[in-house]
Amino acid sequence: MPADLHIHSNFSDGTDSPEEVVKLAAAAGLTTIALTDHDTVGGIDPAWEAGSRLGLEVIPGIEFTTENPRAEIHILGYFLDRQDPELLAILANIQQGRIDRIYKIVEKLQGLGVTIDTEDVFAISGRRSPGRPHVARVLIQQGAVANFREAFSRYLDFRAPAYVPHYRLLPTEAVQLVKKAGGIPVFAHPAVSNCDDLIPELIAAGLRGLEVYYFGYYADQIQHYLELARKYDLLVTGGSDYHGCDAGRDLKLGDFTIADELVEKLRNEHLRGN
Ligand code: AMP
Ligand code: ZN
Ligand code: FE
Ligand code: FE
Repeated sequence: MPADLHIHSNFSDGTDSPEEVVKLAAAAGLTTIALTDHDTVGGIDPAWEAGSRLGLEVIPGIEFTTENPRAEIHILGYFLDRQDPELLAILANIQQGRIDRIYKIVEKLQGLGVTIDTEDVFAISGRRSPGRPHVARVLIQQGAVANFREAFSRYLDFRAPAYVPHYRLLPTEAVQLVKKAGGIPVFAHPAVSNCDDLIPELIAAGLRGLEVYYFGYYADQIQHYLELARKYDLLVTGGSDYHGCDAGRDLKLGDFTIADELVEKLRNEHLRGN
């Protein structure tokens, strides 16, 4: 049965509500999904409730944004306790950091001659995990750029002029946070970060999996990460990184799925841990 373990809702930078995500997933014939919003667990309860109504398994998840000097690294967490007090305290700090960061991005854009209003950004994000895609939407609305690609390449990418770093969280710290909250830490889209040399250090911190299957990966990239997962005895996961139908990518829920056998292994690891 097909599954998708990497999905965003409007609790971060996706455009669909958690309920809509679950409805679309069920209609597309998925049997298991994981909601993995950026730096928040707020969408899990509504997704879980909708899932239980529609007979769809919803695995609680998160995608932590971290960076080191070389790259942005995203760490997925599965089956974590969404009420863990330490987790919630750190997420509250991260969320405040995301709000402060929007002001800094807007200031940098101003310095580049592009004026946008922070309130327009928050009107889109609803102050839930505001980030660069919300800024990109305002830039598009105002005609400052034509599309997401241009918004990122001209202004918002890691090395572009309006880039502002996130709340400082190291990849190893995110791995440890997921573990402490009872979750399974997985390196998200490793080919995007292109930091394979970091994997041993992440494993030492508690990493348990690699997101080997990812929408847009080439066959040789998948093969490469399959081999690394085998070499390091890591779980293999995968997902679409769906952000909604209106998110600048031609991807619908159900277009990209992974085999249930991989979910079974993840589930077993979770059951063994408890
Ligand atoms: P932030 O949370 O502010 O760091 O924004 C990160 C999110 O922006 C990613 O998860 C993607 O959804 C999106 N993103 C990053 N780079 C690009 C890009 N080049 N084009 C479109 N979206 C991007
Ligand atoms: Zn995103
Ligand atoms: Fe990501
Ligand atoms: Fe993502």
